[in-house]
Amino acid sequence: MIASDPARARRLVLFDIDGTILWTDGAGRRAVFQALEEHFGKSGPGEHRFDGKTDPQIVRELMRHAGVSDADIDARLDEVLDRYLALLRDELASTDHAQHVFPGVRELLDALESRGDVVLGLLTGNIHSGARAKLAAVGIDPERFVVGAFGSDHHERPELPEIARRRAERALGHPVAGHELVVIGDTPADVECGVSIGARAIGVATGRYSVDELRACGAAAVFADLTDTAAVVRAILAD
Ligand SMILES: [Mg+2]
Repeated sequence: MIASDPARARRLVLFDIDGTILWTDGAGRRAVFQALEEHFGKSGPGEHRFDGKTDPQIVRELMRHAGVSDADIDARLDEVLDRYLALLRDELASTDHAQHVFPGVRELLDALESRGDVVLGLLTGNIHSGARAKLAAVGIDPERFVVGAFGSDHHERPELPEIARRRAERALGHPVAGHELVVIGDTPADVECGVSIGARAIGVATGRYSVDELRACGAAAVFADLTDTAAVVRAILAD
């Protein structure tokens, strides 16, 4: 079901999830570390940065760091990610943590959805089922996002915008040019990932990077948060 009129779509807006739409208060980290402990008997350095990375990339980096061979990582990657997903769902269902949606996100999604010229999408390092679980946990219907590209599609984030673009063409039934894509994310990896196909990036400093850091890596616009709905919509539609 496509909410927007495909004939009028001017922008495909691809949202990152963690640090951009929501914060899981460590649920993802705990689930990854426990899944690795169960399958490899070790979990790698606890301070390892996850932001901007895909789930398969995180597993590989942590296990390489712990001395596991790529062959062993490859052999167990699918089962580790399956276990991660089960643990993530348990973590998200727990009431012990403070997972939440960032200010202004719900209003921005509503505003974009009500327009005829914008299509909502996801571009995230989360595996597909993990993305859906995180969104559902904070009461955002994953079905609102017409297209998506996920860590389960490719372990390198720079490959994801082109995957999203092709899926948008299939879903909308018309060509979608790279410059019609807008990526919204909280890390330099989000800002830089769409450069090769001409996508524009909007940075939001609700994750671990500052406005200045996101601006320095080439974002077309940067916001401290997404509360100024009108300004964010203008930045999305700007040429
Ligand atoms: Mg992020």
